[in-house]
Amino acid sequence: MIDLILQITHVSEFTPTSGWSNRIVNSLSQLNLNTKIHYVNLDDDSLGLTNQELHSLSHQTDQPLKSEAIINKNWYINLLITHSHKDSNLLGIMFDNLGDRKREGCAVFIDPISTNFDAAEQTRVLARTAIHEIGHAFNFCHPAAFGSDISVMLPTREAQKKANWLESSSFEYSQADKDFFTLERDLLCKPGSPQPSICRPQELEEDMIQ
Ligand SMILES: [Zn+2]
Repeated sequence: MIDLILQITHVSEFTPTSGWSNRIVNSLSQLNLNTKIHYVNLDDDSLGLTNQELHSLSHQTDQPLKSEAIINKNWYINLLITHSHKDSNLLGIMFDNLGDRKREGCAVFIDPISTNFDAAEQTRVLARTAIHEIGHAFNFCHPAAFGSDISVMLPTREAQKKANWLESSSFEYSQADKDFFTLERDLLCKPGSPQPSICRPQELEEDMIQ
């Protein structure tokens, strides 16, 4: 087991429920990650953030948990829950390919989710998007072919075409991603390494609604 500190840095309009957090912890346990979540309130309620602004925001908010993670050799990810990206259709993004510690930050956007999904679906879409973006932080890419894949790394606009795409009680990473994680864990998957995302750049921008 690896210990992962997941900092969830959220605007005050978003109230994380225990059911929501448990979905994330359950999904990450598929990778033998022991996830400890810490919530941090974010005062900044800006709209339309760029990747650079998300990166700066992530750096402003990630102490002291990040220091604690580094000292104790835990893994660390900062998941930002903010209003919207500058590309207003994006539900989430792994924006953090800057600096010498890459893939430590990813984001989920509450405004496009509340605009485009029913109230009953919003919590699950938020959880699925968070688990998907955390997957990009581990260097998981979208499936090469969308045909039969139902994994959580399927982009939202492809997943929406499938029945029951939000019904899963624990959103699953594919066996291929689990195997990749087992083989390349420390070299390619660990967040905070100098290794940037290995996915195509546009792949990281595709997590939008149609
Ligand atoms: Zn994606």
